[in-house]
Amino acid sequence: MNIILLGPPGAGKGTQAEMLVNARDMIQLSTGDMLREAKTSGTAMGKKVAEVMDRGELVTDEIVIGLIREKLEGDKKGGFIFDGFPRTLAQADALAELLDEQGETLDAVIEMQVNDDVLVSRILNRAAEAVAAGGTARADDNEESLKVRLMAYYKQTSPLIGYYHAKGQLSSVDGLGTIDAVKGEIAAVLG
Ligand code: AMP
Repeated sequence: MNIILLGPPGAGKGTQAEMLVNARDMIQLSTGDMLREAKTSGTAMGKKVAEVMDRGELVTDEIVIGLIREKLEGDKKGGFIFDGFPRTLAQADALAELLDEQGETLDAVIEMQVNDDVLVSRILNRAAEAVAAGGTARADDNEESLKVRLMAYYKQTSPLIGYYHAKGQLSSVDGLGTIDAVKGEIAAVLG
């Protein structure tokens, strides 16, 4: 089973993806994690995307599609969870093609609904917790980048909701509940 978790930054996509990895032996494909890894390891691509990411803007479709293409060719285990990808209509079309090439299907698109106030406080909390634990916050977990990330979501990513709805693939869950409640709603969608 291959699924997309769709929602704004702070909706809980990463948290729920992790649970699905444990419960269903699925593979989490987070383009954000892949890009942060490239940034940390200082690859040419990592250097190229660093500033764009820190500002909160989207990196090019070409880069993220390339990252996903590589992963789809590997082990498929219990299926893929696309977390933070696709984020544009061009990426959604590319994903459909890539899955098709692999003889795979997209089984569900789960939209995690939350309101902006919650997103901002969740993300600023995540930053504070990282610092309290002796680490560093994500470079884009600050109010300024967050505004840009939210705008990128509404402008470039939210059209995917209509797109997948029209294709009959969209299910929506209430992302405001407890982690367990959201997990239950997602399990109900996946059956
Ligand atoms: P995330 O961890 O999903 O919040 O992603 C962090 C940042 O990585 C985003 O703000 C973008 O700069 C970049 N990024 C992650 N996934 C994508 C994507 N699918 N398309 C474009 N940029 C992305």
